[in-house]
Amino acid sequence: MNLSKRVSNKQLREIFIHLNKKYFNGALPIPGVLKFVDLEDEGDEGICTSDEILISKSLQDHPDYAWLTLLHEMVHWKLRAYGRDYGDDSHGYNFKREIFRLWDLGAYEGLL
Ligand SMILES: [Zn+2]
Repeated sequence: MNLSKRVSNKQLREIFIHLNKKYFNGALPIPGVLKFVDLEDEGDEGICTSDEILISKSLQDHPDYAWLTLLHEMVHWKLRAYGRDYGDDSHGYNFKREIFRLWDLGAYEGLL
């Protein structure tokens, strides 16, 4: 998938669909809200809630980084969908296991 230099909200959605097909069997529900927003105050690069995935506007001009951050939030999104995202321990065992699975599938090739 080719990325332009500046990622639009529309492209962000296309990347989600692409990654969902490629690494999640297309099984992830599409978030009600999936877009770039100003997260300066939160100091976050991405946020995943029960119905939205938000990516920091500051990454719009960094396609690789935006891609990586979306993939990270999609892991939270998947674990939430299966009731396995554990608040404070949201980067714990289940999260890491999922990252290893993605790594094995080559999801990070060319990105890191
Ligand atoms: Zn996280």
